[in-house]
Amino acid sequence: MRIAVFAGDGIGPEVTAEAVRVLEALNIDGLELVEGDVGGAAYRKHGHPLPQQTLDIARSADAVLFGAVGDFSLDHLERALRPEQAVLGLRKELGLFANLRPATVFKGLEDLSTLRPEVSGKIDLLIVRELNGDVYFGEKGTRTLEDGRRQGWDMMSYAEDEVRRIAHAGFKAAQGRSKKLCSVDKANVLETSQLWRDVVIEVSAEYPDVELTHMYVDNAAMQLVKNPGAFDVIVTGNLFGDILSDQASMCVGSIGLLASASLAEGTFGLYEPIHGSAPDIAGKGLANPMATILSAAMLLRHSFGLEAEAARIEAAVAAALADGIKGGDLGGSAGTKEIGDAVLARL
Ligand code: ATP
Ligand code: MG
Repeated sequence: MRIAVFAGDGIGPEVTAEAVRVLEALNIDGLELVEGDVGGAAYRKHGHPLPQQTLDIARSADAVLFGAVGDFSLDHLERALRPEQAVLGLRKELGLFANLRPATVFKGLEDLSTLRPEVSGKIDLLIVRELNGDVYFGEKGTRTLEDGRRQGWDMMSYAEDEVRRIAHAGFKAAQGRSKKLCSVDKANVLETSQLWRDVVIEVSAEYPDVELTHMYVDNAAMQLVKNPGAFDVIVTGNLFGDILSDQASMCVGSIGLLASASLAEGTFGLYEPIHGSAPDIAGKGLANPMATILSAAMLLRHSFGLEAEAARIEAAVAAALADGIKGGDLGGSAGTKEIGDAVLARL
């Protein structure tokens, strides 16, 4: 079992170090960690944000634990050399097509939510977003029409195999939770969405234990605010998932607590906190490492099937929070290392 550790820029190395301490403390037999350079850190060392040796490390591993990339001082570089390209490159090169973002409100943190406490306290959902297709990857362009008006277009498209594989990811995720899957589309007006819905229904025949519902994206946005407790797993396309997953993250509050997984076919995945490199607090030992620690838990569960170990990490984080260990993002004063220590002590 080999995990590639790409810490990256800004607070990336600080939060990743704590997640690595937690992984090592579990004493998992045969677990090997291999470090690699990404982002601005890799550019400075190798002249590229995603050097070949980093890709080789990723390909030789069973999973990637990723910190963050981003470095304002490299903004003058051409787009292909900017730190952020490392994430896009890894998604493409490793075939990461399913983005999983859990959104859970921890006990005692209901007031962080943008929602009323009686509503927000019930949030425990997972968004499964397709990552390789949709309007972002369709044909696009701009032109000037004969009458002089400028026009821009982006083609929204999905092929059935692309929908089928994300549908399977959604159903499998639902099987591991409370077995409810809500597929979000806009099938009343979009052909892409009608195909999406038809294929999801076809795939549902293979998962008779999962209760499938469908919802239009505009209604889903409303229900996420009105009644988020009704959702378990949401599966949706790239564009709708982009918007709904950011909305869900604000429904539960802090940026320092939310983990994510980007999965390929099979068990390979890349796991990272949803936050960025946070240059404003980098190098100060102030960053909350919990999102990265929870990403490591997702890694153990999805890539290695180590459910008990994953649950142990999640319980330790929840216990630390319940005991009032809070970083600056939660209005507390605990530093990065202190939070790591607190989680380790409760493991
Ligand atoms: P990037 O371009 O690298 O994605 P960003 O501008 O999107 O960065 P973040 O890096 O996510 O933004 O930071 C947004 C704000 O949240 C910053 O003020 C940052 O300090 C804070 N923040 C982000 N992550 C954490 C964390 N783990 N702990 C505490 N504060 C955080
Ligand atoms: Mg960001």
